[in-house]
Amino acid sequence: MAATVLLVRYGEIHLKGANRPFFESLLVKAMRRAVEPFSGKVSRGDGRYYVHGVAEEQTGEAIQALTRVFGIYSVSPALEVEKDKQVMYETAAEEMKRYMQKHNLAGATFKVEVKRADKRYPMKSMEVAADAGGYILEHVEGLRVDVHNPQVRVFLEIREQAYVYVDIIKGQGGMPLGSNGKAALLLSGGIDSPVAGYMVAKRGVLIEAVHYHSFPYTSERAKEKVIELARILSAYTGPIRLHIVSFTEIQMQIYEKCPEEQLTVLMRRFMMRIAERIAKENGCQALITGESIGQVASQTIESLHVTNSAVELPVFRPLIGMDKIEIMERAEKIGTYETSIEPYEDCCTVFVPKHPVTRPSLEKIEKSEGLLDGEGLIARAMETVETITVG
Ligand code: ATP
Ligand code: MG
Repeated sequence: MAATVLLVRYGEIHLKGANRPFFESLLVKAMRRAVEPFSGKVSRGDGRYYVHGVAEEQTGEAIQALTRVFGIYSVSPALEVEKDKQVMYETAAEEMKRYMQKHNLAGATFKVEVKRADKRYPMKSMEVAADAGGYILEHVEGLRVDVHNPQVRVFLEIREQAYVYVDIIKGQGGMPLGSNGKAALLLSGGIDSPVAGYMVAKRGVLIEAVHYHSFPYTSERAKEKVIELARILSAYTGPIRLHIVSFTEIQMQIYEKCPEEQLTVLMRRFMMRIAERIAKENGCQALITGESIGQVASQTIESLHVTNSAVELPVFRPLIGMDKIEIMERAEKIGTYETSIEPYEDCCTVFVPKHPVTRPSLEKIEKSEGLLDGEGLIARAMETVETITVG
């Protein structure tokens, strides 16, 4: 009986010459964490990894967990068999049958693709492909060979052992977590910021999150929604430390003392400043927001400039050039969309100016801030920080 093994391919980290062992050790760590609940054992092969020991009925779940690991390009559930012609060809024919049944195909065009990594194996790849193809044609009904544009490709790899598979399931790509430092994500309950966090984490950056709420103007449910978003993200990023900050006093003060049309921009500068403090206290080297040029008044180039000027840490805005539709598609793919669209108020939606400035001047904004006790407000907000670990 052939054992099912998961073949795991990784990509970009090949490029990192001297750093390669470092990247690979992070990748292995992340893979081990992903397959641990399924008793999977990770081992190294030539330019790939193998996961053995996952029970048949848990294969699907284990693959899903692996495809969320940044750095992995694709995963194939393969049958591992001895390098015996008869065994390999029979297995390939069985795999083909299984695939056709699963997809309800009565007939299909196919092709066998052979990779012979073990050069001691006596037949050349082309010969094995022709031979195996002939065997499959004979033993599986309804098939035709099409070497140019087949509907189904059966892969046969000859290495230490032989591996037979059809499915190649795409992973996220990216780089292993922890390979590129740590950043603090400003996480709202909206569609954009979870996607922004995902995109930066995908580059190997560890994430902490900062969320502002305005109790009693925002509800407990609104906060729970953000915790749920962090939980969904944590399937990719690993456990997330979420810092929840009360923004009520700041909003009230701005509302009372500053020109109404500047409300949003002023709020955003406070959010950035507090996030920067939290970031620095927790070893984060950058901030992340879900802003995109022109999406709302507070995201014009002028507004972004004013917001940016409040902090010195670099601010990553991975959605800057994306349309809302593209961001929504991405949110659906990563699984945050359904939660993001739940209709709970966000602290930014509670106090919305009727006619927000779209071209704020830094000078005027700073003048308004002069009407506030900024340091006191920030210090008191910092005292409200509640940190929880999600995921
Ligand atoms: P989102 O869909 O992520 O809420 P948005 O289009 O509603 O974004 P804004 O409300 O202007 O845009 O917020 C811009 C960015 O500011 C967000 O993407 C997020 O990074 C940050 N932000 C907004 N509100 C909060 C909040 N309550 N807590 C933490 N960060 C926030
Ligand atoms: Mg928002």
